[in-house]
Amino acid sequence: MSESYTLIQNGLIIDGTGSDPFLGDVLLSGQRIVDVGIEASASCPEGAVVNHIDASGCRVLPGMIDSHCHISFDHPNSNDELFFHRREGLAALVAGVNAQKVLRAGFTSFFDADSVFDVAIDLRDAIEGGVLQGPRMTSGGNVLINCVGGTAARLLPDEGTRGYARIVHTPDQIISEIHKQIKAGVDWIKVHVSGLPIRPGKHKGEICTWTLDELKLVCDTAHQFGIPVVGHCRDSTSTRDAAAAGFDMILHATYMDDEALTAVVDHKVPLVPTFTFQANLADFGAAIGSDESLREVFRAEITDSVNTLRAAFDAGVPLLTGSESGFSLTPCGDWHYRELQIFVEDLGMSPLQAINSATEQGARALRMEGELGCIKPNYLADILIFDGEPETHVAQLGDADRFRHIIKDGQLVDTSTPLPKQWHLPGWRVSEYSEKILTKELVQSMGLNL
Ligand SMILES: [Zn+2]
Repeated sequence: MSESYTLIQNGLIIDGTGSDPFLGDVLLSGQRIVDVGIEASASCPEGAVVNHIDASGCRVLPGMIDSHCHISFDHPNSNDELFFHRREGLAALVAGVNAQKVLRAGFTSFFDADSVFDVAIDLRDAIEGGVLQGPRMTSGGNVLINCVGGTAARLLPDEGTRGYARIVHTPDQIISEIHKQIKAGVDWIKVHVSGLPIRPGKHKGEICTWTLDELKLVCDTAHQFGIPVVGHCRDSTSTRDAAAAGFDMILHATYMDDEALTAVVDHKVPLVPTFTFQANLADFGAAIGSDESLREVFRAEITDSVNTLRAAFDAGVPLLTGSESGFSLTPCGDWHYRELQIFVEDLGMSPLQAINSATEQGARALRMEGELGCIKPNYLADILIFDGEPETHVAQLGDADRFRHIIKDGQLVDTSTPLPKQWHLPGWRVSEYSEKILTKELVQSMGLNL
């Protein structure tokens, strides 16, 4: 039986490398791109079956990559909900639907940094095994944390596991947890290097809660098995020490000082700033009842950090787009594109540079550099056929109606079968009597009689 081929014709190709768009065809066979350019069809053997896709007037670009998602969380609005209101089986089933929403947003790959239970590992295997349609994934397990770290403070127990977090204190605990996660099949080991101080106000932002030696131990242990290490670092010391210890990727890397910037540049550690969560809260928090002061804090994290991140980028440090999708502020499928928009508007990248961050650079988070994220021969055929001009208007990538076709692994993605928008599961959301506290003052301010 002869192999079948697909020829995408007459599109303007944005190849993901940051180069200018060019007119041409893309020839696919099986999972991979065979040839690209005006003469691409010549690489098709005589007599082969060829499917034609007309991309006239469209852009042909690589499937995008979100390098920071939490597919198993299902949009909690608090750590309380995330830690105490999730069930393993249901979390997995729901994650399967949320993953399809990511795919239909044009993100054919994502990195799940950490999940509740081992849901993301199982979802990755289910997608790869053909159980359900979904994006290409790499997955962490539970994040390694000491109980003074994290963004959850006292909700963490002194020992054990809670939500996405595995509490470790001693070198022995660190080593045995990494061994256990590698046995379970993680692609990355994640460490919560910085966390909120227990008594806030004395320190801006988060504090580093690990020693350099502990971070080196994580790297030595994971790297022995060829597994890379990623850190959550939202302060200067944590970013500096993670880079120095040999971390392979850093999430956030906000509030860097000169030393941290030097360490990141020296080691060329890929950074995933992940501003979408902060920007959504700052810009739209009022719509979901977020506190005004919180909105200012989150906007400041962006404005206080763009100059150092831009300096890192200019010095050759790869910046990857990650949206932190999975929380109530960042529901799966809706906001992945926004990180590209922020890279353009706040970091001053060109749209083609932002697309490069979301494609060729994102392949680093998928551990598939050189075979994912570009429209080039031998690359995996994850391709978007897009009705718009993202090379000048990058925010158009957030408009799902503009995707004429989404192709993953050389196969057209089904975007027509409806997916459920919302669901109601017993005990899944933190039940609330009310959003506000019913003081007499509030009642009076509304002009109601007591
Ligand atoms: Zn995260």
